[in-house]
Amino acid sequence: MAKAINIVKGIHDSDLENILKKLGLYEKLAHGELRCAICGRRLSLENLGGLYKENGEVKLVCNRIECLVEAAERVRRIRKARM
Ligand SMILES: [Zn+2]
Repeated sequence: MAKAINIVKGIHDSDLENILKKLGLYEKLAHGELRCAICGRRLSLENLGGLYKENGEVKLVCNRIECLVEAAERVRRIRKARM
């Protein structure tokens, strides 16, 4: 099993949906119970930009470019810290 989940870009990606279902987050997302880990905006299937794993916790981010960039940066830092 991969330690870190790569940022999945693009909400049209059905892989993302499958990952969310596997994590048990799909329902929460559909019900508007999740927020962007960066800006705190409420997430939906429409504005979900991607996800990453930090300290064993799955974080979701919205599709704002700033949030995707910040998420990618965090993933990079996490990977660096593990080396
Ligand atoms: Zn955001």
